[in-house]
Amino acid sequence: MIPIAKPQLDDAEILAVSDVLRSGIIAEGQRVAEFEQAFAEYTGTEHAVAVNSGTAALHAALLAHGIGKGDEVITSSFSFIATANSILFTGAKPVFSDIKADTFNLDPQLIEEKITPATKAIMPVHLYGQPADMDLMTNIAEDHGLILIEDACQAHGAKYNGKKVGSFGTGAFSFYPTKNMTTSEGGIITTNNREVADKARMIRSHGSKQRYLHEMLGYNLRMTDIAAAIGLIQLRKLPEYTARRQHNAKLLTENLKDIEGIQCPTVGEGCEHVFHQYTILTTNRDALADHLRNEGIGTGIYYPIPIHKQPYYMELGYNDNLPVTEKASMEVLSLPVHPGVTDEDIATISNVIKNWSGSKC
Ligand SMILES: *Cc1c(COP(=O)(O)O)cnc(C)c1O
Repeated sequence: MIPIAKPQLDDAEILAVSDVLRSGIIAEGQRVAEFEQAFAEYTGTEHAVAVNSGTAALHAALLAHGIGKGDEVITSSFSFIATANSILFTGAKPVFSDIKADTFNLDPQLIEEKITPATKAIMPVHLYGQPADMDLMTNIAEDHGLILIEDACQAHGAKYNGKKVGSFGTGAFSFYPTKNMTTSEGGIITTNNREVADKARMIRSHGSKQRYLHEMLGYNLRMTDIAAAIGLIQLRKLPEYTARRQHNAKLLTENLKDIEGIQCPTVGEGCEHVFHQYTILTTNRDALADHLRNEGIGTGIYYPIPIHKQPYYMELGYNDNLPVTEKASMEVLSLPVHPGVTDEDIATISNVIKNWSGSKC
């Protein structure tokens, strides 16, 4: 079986975790501080605030920017539910805007028509590891005085015009095991805004800077030193993992690009794609996924139901017409691209798809 995702862990992580366990300091401590500094340096931001999930990173980032009841945040419906749920949890309203058919990221041309007097922020998602159009996003945010929050949960190290995602606005990353790097569960907020970083630190720990003095409403969103110790090792390996993902993606595209009925991923101008997912488009999606599974190849559909079509959002009255999002949700199929996938695996995947497609003609 070639799985769709596989965390890359070896003796280095095991040793780092045992060191923490032996130290007796197992909640938030020195390892978290080191991890924050290393991640901020990697992303090119002044501050990083580690939390216990990507969802927590998004939620705390929004709260740290003062977003709440009565505010609207423009985002993508073609994402993991956490993107929109984090907005709902602040009391604000997610407003969905459609995506571009080639990159699956928010279409900058459509954003301005969604802006109302209540709009407070734009939250682009760097889907599958590909940066959104950050020049245009930054311009729109500046022109309308909006906050820019990047859902970079799938895009560790991705660059737009040479600049890493998570450094354009306030970034939120996830370290869930399937992501480009992991801490088991975990997340981090990146920002150049000191006030936002300070506020996020307070929100992560019951609104307190000083123990048992609570200046605002917060929660327990803290990362453990056990998780941070894994993160420090993973961050060191990330460039190698990314290179491997990009290598696998290149081979897949070389092998699949001429197959009729299959559209390979498009990399946008100025984008360095880190291939959290390698996602093709095909109208025969479900049949191909079944066939691949029968041949021992794992696939993923991210995401089969857009957020605005989820039962809970329908109940809230969401009734958007987002044709590009809806079409993508029926045709996307992700193939294994993670660093554990070998050249031989790529050949197997490619041949299975070629033969299947040949048998259809
Ligand atoms: C994974 C992910 C999240 C949430 O991260 P968790 O660590 O699972 O909470 C949010 N947004 C996107 C786009 C993601 O892929």
